[in-house]
Amino acid sequence: MNNYNNVLSPLHLGFLTLRNRFVMGSMHTNLEETPDGFVRLAEFYRERAAHGVGLIITGGIAPNKEGCVARGGAMLSDTSQIEEHKKVTNAVHDEGGKICMQILHTGRYGYHPEIVAPSAVQAPINVFKPREMTESDIEKTMVDFARCAQLAMQANYDGVEIMGSEGYLINQFIAQRTNKRVDSWGGSYENRIKFPLEIVRRIKQATGPDFLIIFRLSMLDLVEGGSSWEEVVSLAHALKSNGVHIINTGIGWHEARVPTIASVVPRMAFAWVTKKLKQEIDIPLIAVNRINDPEIAEKIIAESFADLVSMARPFLADPAFVSKTIAGKPEFINTCIACNQACLDHTFQLKISSCLVNPRACHETIMPVIPSDKAKKIGVIGAGPAGLAFAEMAARRGHEVTIYEKNHSIGGQFLLAKNIPGKEEYGETIRYFQNQLPALGVTIRLAAQIDASTVETCQHDAWVIATGSVPTLPEIPGIYHQKIILYSELLSGIRKAGNKVAVIGAGGIGIDVCTFLLKQNNPPNQAWEAFVRDWNMEGMLEFSDHYNNIKEQPQREIYLLKRSSGKHGSKLGKTTGWIHRSYLTAQGVHMLSEVEYVSIDDSGLHIMHQHENKLLEVDHIIICTGQKSENTLFHDLNSRGMEVYTIGGADTVNELDAKTAIEQGVRLGLKI
Ligand code: SF4
Repeated sequence: MNNYNNVLSPLHLGFLTLRNRFVMGSMHTNLEETPDGFVRLAEFYRERAAHGVGLIITGGIAPNKEGCVARGGAMLSDTSQIEEHKKVTNAVHDEGGKICMQILHTGRYGYHPEIVAPSAVQAPINVFKPREMTESDIEKTMVDFARCAQLAMQANYDGVEIMGSEGYLINQFIAQRTNKRVDSWGGSYENRIKFPLEIVRRIKQATGPDFLIIFRLSMLDLVEGGSSWEEVVSLAHALKSNGVHIINTGIGWHEARVPTIASVVPRMAFAWVTKKLKQEIDIPLIAVNRINDPEIAEKIIAESFADLVSMARPFLADPAFVSKTIAGKPEFINTCIACNQACLDHTFQLKISSCLVNPRACHETIMPVIPSDKAKKIGVIGAGPAGLAFAEMAARRGHEVTIYEKNHSIGGQFLLAKNIPGKEEYGETIRYFQNQLPALGVTIRLAAQIDASTVETCQHDAWVIATGSVPTLPEIPGIYHQKIILYSELLSGIRKAGNKVAVIGAGGIGIDVCTFLLKQNNPPNQAWEAFVRDWNMEGMLEFSDHYNNIKEQPQREIYLLKRSSGKHGSKLGKTTGWIHRSYLTAQGVHMLSEVEYVSIDDSGLHIMHQHENKLLEVDHIIICTGQKSENTLFHDLNSRGMEVYTIGGADTVNELDAKTAIEQGVRLGLKI
């Protein structure tokens, strides 16, 4: 027994028992559409099942071609597809796990020209306009749902999850926002919920009493024209009466302009919505969104927020999440930092999903961890993300690794990132390595300066240079003026900025710096209140008992400047770039493009903008214009005939980000 008894307790459903309350939530990986993808998916799910997750829900599988995510998207509509799915179900069952297939019809969100919807209302996030479904389209779609579930049962799935939230087809029928029909499928709420209820009824009929049916219900649409709370409750009751066994929580449509899973969303931010429904209905409920820690999962079950907790990304980050929880060792969990950079951003780019902190995710078969046949003594110079990731993988494979870090703590750029409000989770990655590396026998030497003269005395077989990068200064007259602050000086707290600030460089770091400047003085224990205020959610639903208005801190006046044209933060990921831009716009940050920097002096920053000379009378100018590699050792060691490698920022700063740096470290660790 440990501190997680509630979340680790089984859930008995009569015909089926789940071994604990952890659900690996649905996440499309794009392996579903990759040649040999089901073999890879089987290994991906097998690893998670082997570590004890109670229930896995697959990525969305369409019941017909109109409902596919994109052209050629995964479908289950024919018996010939069953064998592929059996690879997945067999793998999970071999490990004692249970698995449901999610049936997803995207409706107007599909990214292809054949999309259909209850009404021909184009989604603001799609270039394709849907065709309005005829009566016979509706009938055929319901038949396709039932057939899909029946095929899933033949493929040995333990059940299905019917995707009824996030603004997909079923949700489009339910909400007035998208259902403008005047026939018996539109108008009154009773008419609009006929489609989901009929789908459930037909699936039940096709699959019998012992096949698990989960319905993902949109409990909080976060868009105009969504369901009221009374409607959500009444649909939940109707779903239960029609044979649904478990209701999963859906929060926010994809087109909602409120973040729901990004790192700016406080942990467990929406669990109260599930709890609110739990007080209305007696059916197992699943809580979702920004749950990435066993402590929180336990609280959700122990305090009756829900009966199960769903996490999707945390199982990409660490396949052993549940087994580490069972062992009472949460400090060894590689925590999902909610960055979306290698999972959702990949999904939307039609690339195979993975994970920034665990690049092996979804690549288990092509990145196997095989013990090294010749253990080496390896010195790693630099304890940033690349060096740490390398050290972990090399040690796992049996090498003897020593890390030399010139600073007094490990983490490199993550030490700065964790200080940015909304990116505190980066500190978890540092915590993970701090615990994991010594357990793997890695020696960490802090405040250790390694140079060409000390290398020989260390007697390593190989060296890995992971010394990272240092910020660069742009060539502007006056660049050494005391008003200048490097982003690293600001984020590490070495220097403080005044109330009027110009930020030069509008990439990811410039945007982070603006967020830091805007939120620096906010009390951290009021993260939820700040989140609700930042995203204007006060009026969206009954928030009164979940929101205490707090006084806003005085705002700084900030200019975010860049030389190029186009959007600020244009290289940020699709799923998070809009969040940062909307936030800075709402906070009144002046975002200027095509700026020429003329000079810096006591009066401020002189610029040329839109053919006019302007003076920005600022207290400080923060430089976020780029970095250069810090690597003075490679050529020296290489010329002495040593085995030496360079990774991360020390290798290249072009297009370098933490995702690339960690992946480079892991890949080298797998092959050295
Ligand atoms: Fe989590 Fe980021 Fe990994 Fe996605 S890429 S699973 S958000 S850590």
